[in-house]
Amino acid sequence: MRMSNLFLTTLREIPAEAETPGHRLMLRAGLIRKLAAGVYSFLPLGYRTLEKISNIVRQEMNATGAQEVLLPALQPAELWQESGRWLKGGKEIIRLKDRNDRDFCLGPTHEEVVTDLVRHEVRSYRQLPLMLYQIQTKFRDELRPRSGVIRSREFIMKDLYSFDRDRKGLDESYNKMYVAYDAAFRRCGLQTLAVEADPGMIGGTDSMEFMAPSDAGEDVVIICNTCKYAANREAARIRTTTGENEPEKEMETVLTPEIRTINQLTDFLNLPAERMVKTLIYRNGEGRMVAVLIRGDREVNEFKLVRLLNSSELILAEPEEIEALTGAPVGFSGPVGLEEKATIVVDSDVAEMRNFVIGANEANAHFINANTGKDFSPDIIGDVKLAGSGDPCPECNGFLVEERGIEIGHIFKLGTRYTQAMHATYLDETGTEQTIIMGCYGIGISRLAAAIIEQNHDEQGIIWPASVAPYHVYIVQISPGDKRQAEMVRQLCATFDSGGIEYILDDRDERPGVKFKDADLIGLPVRAIIGPRSLESKQVEIKCRRSNEEKKVYLADAAMEIKSILGGDAFVCTI
Ligand SMILES: [Zn+2]
Repeated sequence: MRMSNLFLTTLREIPAEAETPGHRLMLRAGLIRKLAAGVYSFLPLGYRTLEKISNIVRQEMNATGAQEVLLPALQPAELWQESGRWLKGGKEIIRLKDRNDRDFCLGPTHEEVVTDLVRHEVRSYRQLPLMLYQIQTKFRDELRPRSGVIRSREFIMKDLYSFDRDRKGLDESYNKMYVAYDAAFRRCGLQTLAVEADPGMIGGTDSMEFMAPSDAGEDVVIICNTCKYAANREAARIRTTTGENEPEKEMETVLTPEIRTINQLTDFLNLPAERMVKTLIYRNGEGRMVAVLIRGDREVNEFKLVRLLNSSELILAEPEEIEALTGAPVGFSGPVGLEEKATIVVDSDVAEMRNFVIGANEANAHFINANTGKDFSPDIIGDVKLAGSGDPCPECNGFLVEERGIEIGHIFKLGTRYTQAMHATYLDETGTEQTIIMGCYGIGISRLAAAIIEQNHDEQGIIWPASVAPYHVYIVQISPGDKRQAEMVRQLCATFDSGGIEYILDDRDERPGVKFKDADLIGLPVRAIIGPRSLESKQVEIKCRRSNEEKKVYLADAAMEIKSILGGDAFVCTI
């Protein structure tokens, strides 16, 4: 491809809209352009990378025995009503009506559509296991689209669905996907971390996220400094601190005029926040009040709380609701006497504490020397803490640390979440009807491109891994008007063509400095220069973008040398 023909404008200025280094580079290197908030066009260089990523992912999915399909993006509301997600999906689902006033949505995901397909086609156990996938556009009306294609409203995703006879089959499909994901990300030049995740809106039991560690990531990953434990913040567990041995004292009331916060209480009673217990009041979807007890220096992880309560919804109560429940203004809530009126959830660490401070459900008063079990009865004891740096690891004696990451893949064991609601069944060997067991597995293809750049760049521009670079080599012809240089370039391009090396030839009538700047910004793995010096020496100057190593090689050896720099995976998914 000649630079003079390429549909590309690089930008010198840093675009004001860009939020992360990768977003800036994708705009500056002309990979993407914005159409509307969270809606982007991919230009030729960006699209080539997308195609290469798709091909790598496709190869790894095919290798597991999965089959590629293409399902409609336009989906009838009836299917979503059947699974119960039409209402639950809220404003994230882009909804529309057809000319006959029928409700449709633009698919944010395809569990319903693929389950509908499978329930009509699969009859017998002989047709299972089955894995179907597609690489297709998805739509989610994000509240805050950001960082370019990292969180956009229209994006390309690979989604795969597994259908098995039983749990054991699901485990096998899930493990196959885990291995395939790991391979695909490695081949794309990404460092990733597989972390425990919360199944969230999709539903189901086990789930893992694949995170690309990056400061530009909006997810917080919690990892152990000693063992391999890793989880996203929503799912991160914390080891419960061992019990205190202090004998239980008699609970007493202390007056705490206008002392409503843990900080004020700490100063007033001259006790550390670890000796206090906060009581937070929530209301669940059924209107039942829930009192959650957590150590004063801790925050509640509402995802864990929802799972522990098996609740569909949980909202912090309004001040009037708290007053109606406890008989005291906000800031003085406690569990004593609430047993009949609310579900009392005690964090596992609080259950181990002795003689702590807690609200007395009376204005301007707290209790000291309160104890779980003695002064109030919990309904549920469990880990509802939000994990952070310094917390004890749930798997070993190490400590947890926080890291930022970009979620690029997610695998779920759905079980019968959809197949039961939508009656997707098969007949086993005895002719008995059984519900199909399902899994789902996603990779954000366009987000992957962004994550690769976040992990692979420097001040000058992108540093593409060879396997997903739009082209392999950036050829700079120093003097485009020079016939002898042009002839050398022609010979070089001929060796590249026959060797399967993809290149951009910068034949523009620009100063060399401009071309070198663009070469670094676009970030192809190798730069090759043909200039006046090449004419005498018959040599090409080649430079590796990543290592900055430069060498001069004879024209005849250039293709071989470049191939060894690129490595084998550069040629597996060429376009
Ligand atoms: Zn650990």
